[in-house]
Amino acid sequence: MSRISRNLQAVHDSIAAAAGTVSRDPHEICLLAVSKTFGPDAVIEAAHAGQTAFGENYLQEALDKMTAVRAVQPALRLEWHFIGPIQSNKTRPIAEHFDWVHSIEREKIAQRLSEQRPAHLPPLNVCLQINISGEASKSGVPPEQALELAHAIAGMPRLKLRGLMAIPEPADTFDRQRAPFRQLRELFDRSRAEGLTLDTLSIGMSADMAAAIAEGSTMVRIGTAIFGQRDYANNRER
Ligand SMILES: *Cc1c(COP(=O)(O)O)cnc(C)c1O
Repeated sequence: MSRISRNLQAVHDSIAAAAGTVSRDPHEICLLAVSKTFGPDAVIEAAHAGQTAFGENYLQEALDKMTAVRAVQPALRLEWHFIGPIQSNKTRPIAEHFDWVHSIEREKIAQRLSEQRPAHLPPLNVCLQINISGEASKSGVPPEQALELAHAIAGMPRLKLRGLMAIPEPADTFDRQRAPFRQLRELFDRSRAEGLTLDTLSIGMSADMAAAIAEGSTMVRIGTAIFGQRDYANNRER
């Protein structure tokens, strides 16, 4: 068994264990493999171990990787999720090449993605990125503006609003990790109570996955625990 397939198995075991402690069905929790800074070989190896959904932060790196994977394995059907910051002049290739975008924080970006989503593809699945840790992290919509943006996006024809995403500040205990996830889950519940049909809570990374699952995560975004430590020297866009 390769290192990546062993790691994937260990992550699935951790998801099942974390779900078990809060009496959740582990099948409610999708695993997104975050492959940024790793090459096409790592993606192909994970795909051969059964992984289908991959998350990327840097557009050019992701497009090159998709092309390289397709060249070697044309029959592989993968799902690509854009999870990084979005520049407004880069929306078209995102709309054309991705299945999901988790990092929507402005109406203008959403509008462009909806307009640029090709007609032959299904609507683009999107999550709003919420700034739940306040001043420390700069990305994401402030929670008090989230519902207004969510309602605007829900009316865009070529987008399918799926849920909320957040990246809280790193915290060293389970309870401290859990607190911001609880805030996000409460916002998620409020959005649904207002009639938004959301089904995705995109929270949990390698270091805080169990706390996110305890608060209802339906999609964990895991890089390091699957592929190993990242070397950003490999990434020209950073
Ligand atoms: C890099 C990244 C991840 C994965 O983080 P790990 O700690 O390596 O699991 C998840 N989500 C986002 C938005 C990221 O940028």
